[in-house]
Amino acid sequence: MTVSLLLSGTLMHQLDAVGGSPVHLEPPRKAKNIVLMIGDGMGLAQVSTLFTYRSKEQVFKSFPVIGFQKTQSGDNLVTDSAAGATAMATGVKAPNHSIALDSQGAVLKTILEEAAEKGLSTGMVVTSSIVHATPAAFVAHSTTRYHYEQIAEYFPKSKLDFFIGGGKKYFNRREKDDRNLIYELKKSGFAVYDYFHSNLYNVYPSPTKRFAFFTADNQPLPAMQQREYLPYASEIAIDYLKKRSDKGFFLMIEGSQIDWACHSNQGKMLVSEMLDFEKAVAAVLKMAAQDGETLVIVTADHTTGGLGLNKGETGDKVKLEFTTNGHTASMVPVFAFGPGAELFRGVYENTEIYHKMRQCFGFE
Ligand code: MG
Ligand code: ZN
Repeated sequence: MTVSLLLSGTLMHQLDAVGGSPVHLEPPRKAKNIVLMIGDGMGLAQVSTLFTYRSKEQVFKSFPVIGFQKTQSGDNLVTDSAAGATAMATGVKAPNHSIALDSQGAVLKTILEEAAEKGLSTGMVVTSSIVHATPAAFVAHSTTRYHYEQIAEYFPKSKLDFFIGGGKKYFNRREKDDRNLIYELKKSGFAVYDYFHSNLYNVYPSPTKRFAFFTADNQPLPAMQQREYLPYASEIAIDYLKKRSDKGFFLMIEGSQIDWACHSNQGKMLVSEMLDFEKAVAAVLKMAAQDGETLVIVTADHTTGGLGLNKGETGDKVKLEFTTNGHTASMVPVFAFGPGAELFRGVYENTEIYHKMRQCFGFE
């Protein structure tokens, strides 16, 4: 066989990595639950900071499967977070700034919406406002990510069961109208809490009700200023979602501020956001390893800051240096663990994350 024939199409998937001889591939194991963890702006350089700034507990080493995704959007080689999240949530490359709408403005059904329709429980835990681009693309539909108040209107009418994140003001102190979406959330079955009146660590989310906890009025604090809820929130989300439905769950967890640290070219802030995200990854992996039926995917929407880990003065420490305040077009890593993880090996488009997740759920 010629090399080009060997490398073409599905045949490639039937070859083993070493000898190139055809092997019988088992269909991927079905995942009952999927946790999609997005480090916003988390390229390989961002992940590498964990290996250079700390000696132990390298959680990213525990993933048996690694892949790379190409991140360009529908209209730009350099994606923004809205189009990046839309690609993973819907399988379509939308123009930058678009929230789960295609280039013609047609509504794209998200993996979260489909999971909810099929009776799975669904949740999101983020360290930005809950109406920010990444979480928005899983439950809302908008031509622009910046219509935060319009995006908030999707939450009461969504099928989302559980969310933790900032952005309360877009629900109850709105500029565009007098609607009180906190009231509307409660009317549609949510138990609603916020950081001002309650401590997340003292609130027990009852699986008989939907659950919302606002961690900030607008954007939550950076991890450097004692924000530390992401790992704990991820744990209680999984615990809740398991009890909420016996059919399985879909959970999206975002380390939102990795991106912001890199936009502002702040190395120290980046390291603290990465350590926080890594703790959440560790917590999720532990639970997934225990139940054996949860697929965990850790990836990014794009890389930010054009980060270099350059040689430092002392030799034992690298110097974090940035080449831009914006995003870049590099591929981003995909780490997978659990049933179906093997599907995430290789190099593929960001939209494949959606198709692979559907395949693991058995939706196609
Ligand atoms: Mg984001
Ligand atoms: Zn960004």
